[in-house]
Amino acid sequence: MATAYIGLGSNIGDRKKNIEDAINLIEITPDIKIIKKSSLYITEPIGYVGQDCFLNSVIEVITKLSPDELLHRCQAIEDKMGRVRTMFWGPRIIDLDILLFGDEIVEDDKLIIPHPLMHNRRFVLIPLVEIAPDIMHPKLNKTASELLHQLKDGHKVEKYERK
Ligand code: AMP
Repeated sequence: MATAYIGLGSNIGDRKKNIEDAINLIEITPDIKIIKKSSLYITEPIGYVGQDCFLNSVIEVITKLSPDELLHRCQAIEDKMGRVRTMFWGPRIIDLDILLFGDEIVEDDKLIIPHPLMHNRRFVLIPLVEIAPDIMHPKLNKTASELLHQLKDGHKVEKYERK
C-alpha cells in the first residue's frame, strides 16, 4: 500500500460540483481509498489568463495500484467527465495530477512523480499543507510546509467559502 496525493482543479462550469464529482468517482474506484480531503481553494488562472478562476483541492489516498495504474484511473475519470484536451494550460472541466506517490521517484515519458511543478504552485502547496504539512518531497528533501514557506510568488489563493 502506498500513500499518494492527488491535486484536483476545475475552471469550467460548476467548478465545485466538478471537483466533488471527481472525488466521488475516485471514491468508487476499486483499490483507491480516500483518507483526507483538503478544503477547496479559489485560484487565479496561470498561463492563459483570459479564463475563469480555478477551484483547487488536494486529496490523500491509499492504494495498492502502481503509479502508472493510478494515472490511468485518473485519466479515465478525466475522460468520463468529458475533459477535452485542447489548449495546454487552457480551460478544463477537471484536471487530476498525481503529486506524490509515497517516496517514489518516477521519471518516464508519461509520468513524472513528484509532479514537476508542485513545489512552485501555491494552489497545490496550500491545500497539501492543510492535510499533510510534514509530507516529504523525496527529490527536494523538504516538507510541504517548507516548500510553501520558501515560495516567493504572489499568486492569489483563497479559501473558497462554501455557501
Ligand atoms: P495535464 O494537461 O496537466 O493534465 O497533463 C496531462 C499529461 O501529463 C498526461 O499525458 C500525463 O501522462 C502527463 N503527466 C506526467 N506526470 C504526471 C503526473 N504526475 N500526474 C498527472 N499527469 C502527469
